[in-house]
Amino acid sequence: MSQQGYVATPPYSQSQPGIGLSPPHYGHYGDPSHAGSPPGMMKPAGPLGAAAPGGMLPQGPSPPGPHQFGQNGAHAQGHPPQRFPGPPPVNSATPSYAPYSPSTQSSYPSPASTASVTQLASQLNAMHINSYGSGMAPPGQGLPGPPAPLFQGLPRPPQPSIMQPGSQVLPPPPTALNGPGSSPLPPSTHRQDGLPGPAPLNAQYQPPPLPGQTLGTGYSPQQAASYGPQMAGGQLSYPGGFPGGPAQMAGPPQLQKKLDPDSIPSPIQVIENDRATRGGQVYATNSRGQVPPLVTTDCVIQDQGNASPRYIRCTTYCFPCTSDMAKQAQIPLAAVIKPFATIPSNETPLYLVNHGENGPVRCNRCKAYMCPFMQFIEGGRRYQCGFCNCVNDVPPFYFQHLDHIGRRLDHYEKPELSLGSYEYVATLDYCRKNKPPNPPAFIFMIDVSYSNIKNGLVKLICEELKTVLEKLPKEEQEETSAIRVGFITYNKVLHFFNVKSNLAQPQMMVVTDVGEVFVPLLDGFLVNYQESQSVIHNLLDQIPEMFADSNENETVFAPVIQAGMEALKAADCPGKLFIFHSSLPTAEAPGKLKNRDDKKLINTDKEKILFQPQTNVYDSLAKDCVAHGCCVTLFLFPSQYVDVASLGLVPQLTGGTLYKYNNFQMHMDSQQFLNDLRNDIEKKIGFDAIMRIRTSTGFRATDFFGGIFMNNTTDVEMAAIDCDKAVTVEFKHDDKLAEDSGALIQCAVLYTTIGGQRRLRIHNLSLNCSSQLADLYKSCETDALINFFAKSAFKAVLHQPLKVIREILVNQTAHMLACYRKNCASPSAASQLILPDSMKILPVYMNCLLKNCVLLSRPEISTDERAYQRQLVMTMGVADSQLFFYPQLLPIHTLDVKSTALPTAIRCSESRLSEEGIFLLANGLNMFLWLGVSSPPELIQGIFNVPSFAHINTDMTTLPEVGNPYSQTLRMIMSIIQQKRPYSMKLTIVKQREQPEMVFRQFLVEDKGLYGGSSYVDFLCCVHKEICQLLN
Ligand SMILES: [Zn+2]
Repeated sequence: MSQQGYVATPPYSQSQPGIGLSPPHYGHYGDPSHAGSPPGMMKPAGPLGAAAPGGMLPQGPSPPGPHQFGQNGAHAQGHPPQRFPGPPPVNSATPSYAPYSPSTQSSYPSPASTASVTQLASQLNAMHINSYGSGMAPPGQGLPGPPAPLFQGLPRPPQPSIMQPGSQVLPPPPTALNGPGSSPLPPSTHRQDGLPGPAPLNAQYQPPPLPGQTLGTGYSPQQAASYGPQMAGGQLSYPGGFPGGPAQMAGPPQLQKKLDPDSIPSPIQVIENDRATRGGQVYATNSRGQVPPLVTTDCVIQDQGNASPRYIRCTTYCFPCTSDMAKQAQIPLAAVIKPFATIPSNETPLYLVNHGENGPVRCNRCKAYMCPFMQFIEGGRRYQCGFCNCVNDVPPFYFQHLDHIGRRLDHYEKPELSLGSYEYVATLDYCRKNKPPNPPAFIFMIDVSYSNIKNGLVKLICEELKTVLEKLPKEEQEETSAIRVGFITYNKVLHFFNVKSNLAQPQMMVVTDVGEVFVPLLDGFLVNYQESQSVIHNLLDQIPEMFADSNENETVFAPVIQAGMEALKAADCPGKLFIFHSSLPTAEAPGKLKNRDDKKLINTDKEKILFQPQTNVYDSLAKDCVAHGCCVTLFLFPSQYVDVASLGLVPQLTGGTLYKYNNFQMHMDSQQFLNDLRNDIEKKIGFDAIMRIRTSTGFRATDFFGGIFMNNTTDVEMAAIDCDKAVTVEFKHDDKLAEDSGALIQCAVLYTTIGGQRRLRIHNLSLNCSSQLADLYKSCETDALINFFAKSAFKAVLHQPLKVIREILVNQTAHMLACYRKNCASPSAASQLILPDSMKILPVYMNCLLKNCVLLSRPEISTDERAYQRQLVMTMGVADSQLFFYPQLLPIHTLDVKSTALPTAIRCSESRLSEEGIFLLANGLNMFLWLGVSSPPELIQGIFNVPSFAHINTDMTTLPEVGNPYSQTLRMIMSIIQQKRPYSMKLTIVKQREQPEMVFRQFLVEDKGLYGGSSYVDFLCCVHKEICQLLN
C-alpha cells in the first residue's frame, strides 16, 4: 500500500484560519433564496409547499369525542411559531462574546471577528441546529445572540494544566503539546514563518506521533500527515480540521512530547463501562427522567410505565425549566422515536387494547390517549389530563373505583394505565372513508433494460422472488399472508401482468403512454400469491426470456412510481413498491433526468444543489404517494451517476428504503442484495400512517426529521413505517416547565397492519425538568445527540453552504461544553478542558459526523454516494447512527473460540492495529476484515483454509465455511453483528499495505481523514480552544 496515498492534498490551505487569511464566507447566509423553504417541512421547497387538501385524514377542527388525531387544544393553531423572539432578556451588561475583541484576536489570529461570531449565531438559529432560534422567522431576523453572562470574565493566559487522575480533563493545546511544565510558547521551529508575534496557539503546530504508531507497525511515515497543522489558532470555524498543504506536512521533525490519545476520552471505554454496569440486567422504565443504558449495552427492558428506549431515546432526560436555560446550554431537546422497533423475544410484545365501538379513551381537549399520565379523581368519575390539565369525565363504560392511594383498582389490568407502550384497535372513525382498510399490496417493478438483462440481474431477481414470496409478512394468528402481489416490468414503456389464478399463462399489457400512466387492468393484477402461485412462477420464469433480445437502453422512472401508486389507488389499498432500477432515467417522460453531476459546485455555496432533486416531479409524486399510503423501496444498481438525490427522494419521503449496489457484479454482490431483498420483504411494517406527538404544557414538538411528509405543522404522515425507521423530533419551550410535573411526551401512530387492521400505537415517556443546568447535563445521551445533529445538519445541507453547517456544528459543540464548564464544573484553571460525563465522547462523535462524506466537500467522493448517505441517515435510529458514525472494530486474533461473547472492541485508529493481528470492522453498511501482514498462519488457515497470507484471495464477499473453530466463531460473530442491522453489510477482505486498504482507512475515524477532516486529537484541541475563548 502506498503510504503516500494518505497524504491528502487539502483544498483549504488558502483559507487556513490562524494564518491571517480570508475570513469565513458568511455572506450567503440570509440569501433570500434560502428563505423559501419553511422550516418544519421535510421536503425542499417546491410545489408541495402549499398545504394541499385531501390528506389521508380529515383536517381541521376536531369534533368532540373519538376522532382521528384532532387538534391539540393546548397547542392551538395560530400560536406564534417564533419561540424566542428578540435577544435573551438576561442581565446583559457584558456584551455578547466579549472575548472576541480585537485585542483577543491579535493574540489568537483568527478569522472569527465579532461580527462573524454574531452572524454565526444567527446561522445557528437558521439551521435549527441551535435549538433556540426562531422556528419560523426568516434567516437572520430577530435571532437572539448567545447569552452574554455565560462567557464573562477576563481572558486568562493559558496555564500549564494538570491531568487529573481518571479525569475528563485535558490540558489546553499549547500546554499539552509541549508537555506539562514547559513554556507556553511552542518552539519557533513549529511556527509558520511570518506569523506575527509570539502567538502561542498556532496553526502550524504539529503534534508528534502517537504511541504505538512508531513502534514497528510500519505506520510512522505518514504521522506528520496524520497530525498535520489542524491546530489553527483559536479558529471559530472547522476548516482548521482540513489540513494544510503537503508542504506543511513535510514539516520539521516531531520533537515535542505527545498528546497521549489514551488520555482523551475513549468511546470504547464509555461503551464498556456502561456494559459492565448495566449490561445483562433488567432495566425497568418505572421512574420519570431516568437515563437508559446505552444503545450498545444489551439488557432486558421491562415496561413499567414509560416507553422502552428501544422505541424512544432522548438527547436529554431532563429538560431545562425555562427557555433561557435552554438557550444558555444550547443542548438540543429532541427525541428519536422508532415506533415499530423490533423487540427481542425475551421482552413482552405490545398489548392490544380493544374498547370495541367505544374506541380509545381520549382527553376532550388535547385528544391525548388514555395513559399512565392521566390522574383519576373524584372517586374515579373524572380524570385530569397530564398533557393539557383538562378535567374529563370518565366514560361510563370505562368507570372503575379508586384504591386508597387514588389509583384505579384495575390499574395493572389495563395496559393503557400502567404501561408506556401499547396498541389500540381503532374504530371506523380512524379509517379512510369510515370503512375498514383493505390489506396492503406489494408490487414488484423490474427494470428490464438492456444492461439489467445482460448482467443477469433480471434473472436473479425473478428467481429470488419465487422463494421470497413464500415469506410475505402475515399476522401472527393467520395462516397465510393477506398481502396481495403484482408485477410490472419496464424500460421506456411499462408492462403490466395479469396473473389471475385461473389463467394458464400470464398476460402482458403494455402501456406506452408514460406521460399519463393509467392502469390497464384491475382484476388479475393484484393477486393472492398462494392462489396464483403457478401463474406467478410461470411469469417469473418468462420475464428474463421475454426481454432477452431487447436492446432498449433508456428507462423511465417517475412513471413507474406513478403506475404503482395508481394501481394501489385503483385497488383501494395501501402498499409498497419494490423497484429494481439501474440507470439515469433519460427517456422522454415526466421525471426525466439529465446528468448534472458537477464537481465544480463542490465547496461552493451552490454545492447544496447536488443534494436537491433535479425536478419537482419527484416532490409531488412523493406527496401523492404518501396521500395514498404508497411506500416506495428502491434497489439501485448504478454503474455511473444516476442522480440519487432525485431518484431517492420518493423512497425517502414515503418511508421506503434506498439500497444501492455500485457496479453490481453477480458473483460479488448478489448475496448482499438478496439478503436485503428478503429482509425488506419480511420486515415488520405499518402502512398509511399518521404520527402525532403530544406534549405536556410548556413545550412542544417543532421540527421533525425522517422518512415523513408533513402537510401541516403537526401531523407527521408516513406512507409506511417499518421496524428500522426512526423519526427525530425536536422540542422547544413555549412556557416554563415545572420541576414537579416534569415533561411528558405521547407519540401516537395511527396505521394499517399487514393484515389490514387499523390500529393506534401509543408510546409515552416522562422526562424530568430542572432549573439546575447540572441536572440537564447529567441526563444527556450523546448517541441521541449525534443522531439529532446528523439529521438536522443533513437536512440543512439542502439549503445551506456546507462550510456554514460545519462551523455551526463545531460552534454548538463548544457552546454546550463551555456552558457546562462555566456553570457546572468545579472551579479549576480556565485552561483545563472539562467535559460532562454524559458528553465525554461528544467531541469524537461530532468529529466523525463532520468527517462524513456528506459534510466533507471533496470531489473524490461521488455525488451519488453522498446523496445516498444523506438520505440513509435521515431515517436512522440511535443504534444505527451510533455504529454508522463510529464503527465497531474488533480484534479477531484475540478471539476466544470457546466463548460466544464478542471480543472487546478497540478504538477506530490505525495506531490500534497491529501487523500481527486480524481485525473486523463494521459500520452498518460495510464490513471489512483487515489482515496484518504478519497475521498468525494458524488463523489464516483456520479462517480461509489457505496456508499463508499470500494465498488469501481478497476477491470474496463471504468467508468460506471451514470446519474449524476460528472460522465458525468468526462467522458467528459476523452474523451477530449483522443480525440487528437494517442493511446487509458487504464484506471486503483487506490486506495490510495493499490498495483496498485505502477504503478501509476511511473508517478509522479517530485518525485524520483520507480526504480531509481532523483526527480526534486535533479536533478536541480545536474544540478546547473555542471553549477557552468562550470562557474568556
Ligand atoms: Zn388533554
